[in-house]
Amino acid sequence: MSRRRFIAGNWKMNLDRAGAAGLISALRAKLPHDPGFDVAVFPPFPYLELAVNACAGSCISVGAQNCSHELKGAFTGDVSATMILDLGARRVLLGHSERRHVFGETDVIIAKKMATALGIGLHPILCVGETLDERKAGQTSDVVLRQLREGLAPVAAAQLASVTLAYEPVWAIGTGVNATPEQAGEVHSILRNALAASHGRATADSMRILYGGSVTPDNAASLLAVPGVDGALVGGASLDASKFVPILEAAQR
Ligand code: PEP
Repeated sequence: MSRRRFIAGNWKMNLDRAGAAGLISALRAKLPHDPGFDVAVFPPFPYLELAVNACAGSCISVGAQNCSHELKGAFTGDVSATMILDLGARRVLLGHSERRHVFGETDVIIAKKMATALGIGLHPILCVGETLDERKAGQTSDVVLRQLREGLAPVAAAQLASVTLAYEPVWAIGTGVNATPEQAGEVHSILRNALAASHGRATADSMRILYGGSVTPDNAASLLAVPGVDGALVGGASLDASKFVPILEAAQR
């Protein structure tokens, strides 16, 4: 089954208003109306609306980097999925390793966010990945399969088409050390086989699994060439059009 590639840029807590606008306009200038694959940017909350407006009429969709597990109420500092949708964004990252490991988000809270986001029509990217210690201890498969199972626990079969997965080994995020194509391919297979066991082969074959972790213009082509790697979730290199555009070009080839 051929799956449409998907390249996503996670800006994390970077850029300012002018930088956000400038980056989107540089991307728009390089991208055709339909490049043949999906492109998304995930700006910080304050720049979501700016990004939605700047991407209007282009192939670039916009998402938030996180959302609350609740839709409204006394949750000071949180941002609800409804608000994200209200600003015109359509996607959300859930379970990013920085949310799990810096902010202590558990599988349980991520599952609640998943249910909330899907319930109002956002399209989540569920991130899973092991730490270096977990990899060294031979626990990679156990960890990613637990995160997958828990993250998808509240997802009805009919909602799965709205979900994208991202394998993001924690040790590769922001470190400059990417997983090798073999390492990425191995974990993507583990995830897809688990999906086949839980949801059937056709569903597993239809779901996109992105790789994330120090993707650069130098390694993008070899990672994207791995069977089962359907795209990339790019952090640092998505902040600079001169680095992100070559990654987009690698997806087009
Ligand atoms: C990320 O933030 O999801 C990420 C993969 O970051 P980087 O590309 O900088 O490793």
